[in-house]
Amino acid sequence: MDIKKFILDMVFPIYCISCHQEGVWFCDKCFQKLIFKTEQTCPICKKIIVPNGEICFDCKYQNNIDGILVSSFYRKKKEKTMVAKLIHYYKYRFISSIGQILGKVLEKSILNSTLPLPEIIIPVPLHPRRLRWRGFNQSAILAHYLGENLTPGFSIPVYSDILARNRYTQPQMEIKDKQKRVINAQNAFSLNPKENSKIKGKTIFLVDDIATTGSTLFECARVLKEGGAKKVYGVVLARQ
Ligand SMILES: [Zn+2]
Ligand SMILES: [Zn+2]
Repeated sequence: MDIKKFILDMVFPIYCISCHQEGVWFCDKCFQKLIFKTEQTCPICKKIIVPNGEICFDCKYQNNIDGILVSSFYRKKKEKTMVAKLIHYYKYRFISSIGQILGKVLEKSILNSTLPLPEIIIPVPLHPRRLRWRGFNQSAILAHYLGENLTPGFSIPVYSDILARNRYTQPQMEIKDKQKRVINAQNAFSLNPKENSKIKGKTIFLVDDIATTGSTLFECARVLKEGGAKKVYGVVLARQ
C-alpha cells in the first residue's frame, strides 16, 4: 500500500459523499443510482428530440458543432442532483480524484449512445490563470479518463494543447445575462498553429464538465472546423 495515501487516509478519512461509506469518495452502489439522461435534444434549439444530442436539420446550417451529448442533469425538481454535487466537490473542493468517477459517467453515456468513437479527444482549455488557481484542468482529467477507457486495449489520443484560450474570460456560470455569455465566448479560443495538422479530417470529442449556454463548445467547434476537423461532438456531464 502507498504509505503517503495510507497516512492521508488516516488524517483525512474519505467517505462516500452520498451514503458516507468509508474509503471512497463515491461508492459503486451510489454510482448505480445515478440518473442518466435517456432523451437528448438538439443543442441549439433544444426543442427537437434527437439521437445522441446531434444537431437538428434546421440548426445544422448555421452551426459548426455536430452535437452535444449530455450525460445527466444538474437539477431535478429544482434540487441539485448527485452529479451536480460530485462536480462541486471536484471543482470547488479541488478533489481531482472525483474526476475518475465523473469520467465514468461520461463513458457510460457515450457507450450507451450510437455516436462514432472519436479519433481524438480535446478538453476545453482553462485559462492559465484559472489553471494556477485550481491546480488542474477539470476537463483534461475527464478527457484523459475517456482516452484511456473508451476503447479497451488501446487509447485514444488526448490533445490538450491544440486549443488555446486567448484571453481571460469570466466563468460562464458567473454571468447571468445570456447575450453577455455569448459575447464572452466569442474569439476566446484559437488553434495552436504547430498542432493543427493533427485535427484535419478527424472526428473529435470536445470534453467539458458543464455546458451553460453551450457558447464555449460552439466557439471551440467553430475554431476546430475552420482548422479542418471533420466532426466535432461536445460531451458534457450536464447542462445548466
Ligand atoms: Zn455511497
Ligand atoms: Zn435544432
